[in-house]
Amino acid sequence: MYNLSMNGNDLVDYAKKHYNPQEVALIEKAAKYATKCHDGQTRKSGKPFIDHPLNVAKILIDWRMDATSVLAGVLHDVVEDTSATLEDIEKMFGKNVAILVDGLTKMSIARSGMKNLSEYMPQTADNLSKLLIAISQDVRVIIVKLADRLHNLRELQFLSPAKQLKIAQESLDVFAPMADRLGMGRVRMELEELAFSYLDPKRFKQLEKLMRKNLGRSTRKLGTVRLEVQQKLEENQIDFSINGRIKSIYSLHKKMKKKNNDINEIYDLIALRIIVNKNEDCYKVLGILHSMYQPMLTRIKDYIAVPKTNGYQSLHTTVITPHKQIVEFQIRTQTMHEYAERGLAATFHYHAQKSSSDYLKSRKASTLPANLQWMLQLQDVAYQLKNNQKLDKTQLAIDLFNDRIFVYTPMGDIFNLPENAMPLDFAYQVHSKIGKHAAGFMVNNKIHPFDKPLQNGDIIEVIVKKSALPKTDWLKLVTTSHAKSKLRSQLKKLDLIK
Ligand code: MN
Repeated sequence: MYNLSMNGNDLVDYAKKHYNPQEVALIEKAAKYATKCHDGQTRKSGKPFIDHPLNVAKILIDWRMDATSVLAGVLHDVVEDTSATLEDIEKMFGKNVAILVDGLTKMSIARSGMKNLSEYMPQTADNLSKLLIAISQDVRVIIVKLADRLHNLRELQFLSPAKQLKIAQESLDVFAPMADRLGMGRVRMELEELAFSYLDPKRFKQLEKLMRKNLGRSTRKLGTVRLEVQQKLEENQIDFSINGRIKSIYSLHKKMKKKNNDINEIYDLIALRIIVNKNEDCYKVLGILHSMYQPMLTRIKDYIAVPKTNGYQSLHTTVITPHKQIVEFQIRTQTMHEYAERGLAATFHYHAQKSSSDYLKSRKASTLPANLQWMLQLQDVAYQLKNNQKLDKTQLAIDLFNDRIFVYTPMGDIFNLPENAMPLDFAYQVHSKIGKHAAGFMVNNKIHPFDKPLQNGDIIEVIVKKSALPKTDWLKLVTTSHAKSKLRSQLKKLDLIK
């Protein structure tokens, strides 16, 4: 009988293909060290514990993450589960790896404190995932965490049914949205598929069967369309590749609920995906498709001009062929495709050696898609907090936000303010123009005076009137330096102060 568990040498061999010799040497050192630390511990599967962190590191290599993240993957459980300390990690592997391991340890502590957190937060997965991203400070912490969760889900069959349900539900509620937030489409999909197969195994199998039946039929029919399209694109001298993408069971499940459980109402069981070299070719292809087939007007989506909030870009269109077949097309460049599959992980190129401190310093708007800038803001808050406040790792995450409150827009967007912040602080935080024209406030659906501080969890609506303008009195009604400086410059412009 041979041993299916992974050992340090397997990981080193795997790493050799992708990292330089110095990095590989460090990975080897980490694998040896972690193996020693976890010696004698076993997983529920019966395998030696070390199999888990090594597999997490392997997943990170597959995602082409930088060597620092891979090292953090190997070491992610040693501080929490063995006698190793953060200082040991820092001494052996440097500050950057230690920062990531620290973030991962804190994050699992934060998660165990989530029950307390939920008292302070509206229970939406989105806010929870934003919060976790904020706590983790370096987004690579989240990416390693996602690899950790993915491997645990892949081995979920070894846990008790109660634990399976808990972990699967949490994956669907928190981790899949988190992957989605970071644009990591492929990871999101695998998390959802695995989690759903445990949460509703009957439905999962049923849909799988239904899908297989329908796929056979649609694939045969699609063959003709695909050939026609290929030929036409070649005639137009467009450099492209084309393939079919199959809908995931979980997203089929969600759509079936909307479509009265009728699979015939679902047009994108298989979509044809066309990948080209240049942006303008995307639109050329769209034009060609629309000259060949009748497009369904309501289903043309330009996510290139207007990307989804997680940075996803593509053109989508659904057409009807002369044989009354309905076919969805997705058109994108190779770069857009990379991003759609790997999201933020695609930006950490594995040979771009980036230190955490460089990373923290250089996190400028330009390094992230515009839609992900909320993440920088939240991370900055967490970063500042961390520097003012010495954190003990036994503290719950709630302590991390001791002097801060979380408040929300009516749309559920989250804002982090200091305790005792005033309504005007919030208004200026949202936008300086909102502050400028604030005429009143509704907090939790009730009228709220300008001079009454906000509370954690408040939902705030700013009533804006064009005619409303800032007054000098307001200087007493703001507490954040951000609001103060915006207000001051507006008052100056109005000649109300010098
Ligand atoms: Mn783990």
